[in-house]
Amino acid sequence: MLKENICRLIDSKKHEFIDLSDRIWDHPEIGLEEFYSAEAIMEVLKKEGFQVESGLSKIDTAFKGTWGEGHPIIGFLGEYDALAGMSQKALSLEKEPLEEGCPGHGCGHNLLGAGALAAAVALKDHMEEEKIPGTVVYFGCPAEETASCKTIMAREGDFNICDLVVTWHPADNTYVVTDSCLSDCMMLFKFKGISSHAAAAPHLGRSALDAAELFNVGVQYLREHIPDGCRIQYAYLDVGGQAPNVVQSRASLYYDFRAPKVSMVRELRPRIIRVAEGAAHMTETEMECEVTSAMSDYAPNLTLSKIMGEAMQELGSIGFSPEAHALADAMTKTLSEGDIKESTSLMNLYVRPAEVAERAKYNLQEVPLPYVETHRCEPSSTDVGDVSYVAPTAQCYVTTETFGTQLHSWQAVSQGKSAIAHEGMIYAAKVMALTAAKVLEDPEVLKAIREEHEANIPEYDCPLPEGVEPRVIK
Ligand SMILES: [Zn+2]
Repeated sequence: MLKENICRLIDSKKHEFIDLSDRIWDHPEIGLEEFYSAEAIMEVLKKEGFQVESGLSKIDTAFKGTWGEGHPIIGFLGEYDALAGMSQKALSLEKEPLEEGCPGHGCGHNLLGAGALAAAVALKDHMEEEKIPGTVVYFGCPAEETASCKTIMAREGDFNICDLVVTWHPADNTYVVTDSCLSDCMMLFKFKGISSHAAAAPHLGRSALDAAELFNVGVQYLREHIPDGCRIQYAYLDVGGQAPNVVQSRASLYYDFRAPKVSMVRELRPRIIRVAEGAAHMTETEMECEVTSAMSDYAPNLTLSKIMGEAMQELGSIGFSPEAHALADAMTKTLSEGDIKESTSLMNLYVRPAEVAERAKYNLQEVPLPYVETHRCEPSSTDVGDVSYVAPTAQCYVTTETFGTQLHSWQAVSQGKSAIAHEGMIYAAKVMALTAAKVLEDPEVLKAIREEHEANIPEYDCPLPEGVEPRVIK
């Protein structure tokens, strides 16, 4: 009954959310500039009777919509930022920008934001109909791709009210995410020296560029002595200048380092800073550094994740339309063998090899993978991690793309307002709303979710220092 009820509620308003997702796709905005998208979502929230508060955590495009009263408080996370330079015509079978150099929805966040909203509204409708006490909160979380605003929102306490949080991400397969992922920290390092004539008076110069190079070399040696699974990468933002006959007086580097746990990132940070200090010392230059963004690892609440798995199995196949299948059959021809292989190998975590081979024959993955606790750390990072430290969190991936489509590809943008995307998004909304509705039915489950969180998750200590505001480094 519960399942039928949730499906009925979502289906009755699905066109509104599909329209919302398409409008966000049509107005791709990069992180911290998502004014149209945030406004479009807030409009629907207001229309549905949610109290809307914008400018959350002093971020212009962050907001929340609240409906109801008292506990349990159920949070849904929405994202809506696009990716720079990813403009692409919808439904095209070749790389074809809509507007050269403009942003595009390469990660499906148009679907993410609208789908999570559909779930929040359906849960509200269900609680209203059945007179279930509690609160539904939709969080509008900006700049997932660039400024990790959920970390800032977590630091400012926005998610503290939640008893549980549910979210999803568009993908080319359907399953509950029980992987953890890497904690991440990004830092700017600036070296300042003294410029001089490189031939006539090198003894008067102090090279910031030398410092930057020695810093990077020092980090190469550090890599041998850091825990497995850590990653350290860097990019030059400024090499001083282009004249080799000048001792370069300035140089700056952008560092990105990750580890399986946020506590390990904390330990790594001062070690990297010490190498930078050493490089400055060796070159008699000055060094300044600052953290620009940081994310905790994702720590899924397995009690809640399991309920999400049950919801998914109850809902069964997405049952894509012939239109969706036809697009997938055409789109698959644009994908490389490597793309398909990558997506196929992931299924080994969930089903036996024979079933992997069977499933991989289909261009659209419409039957959800079984619920499996993978105990794997996915080598990527998300700011959902910080939410998971504050409140018990579950998330799923749902098929919105042809099998083998990689996120941040032109194919992902092209399919962003297709039948595959729409039907997958509506299914994701059903999974999320049903998950929350199941928890509301059973106070014992809610208690178990809370107990697991308290037993396993250390107290949240935001990896982003106080005062660091969201910013996009260009
Ligand atoms: Zn994404």
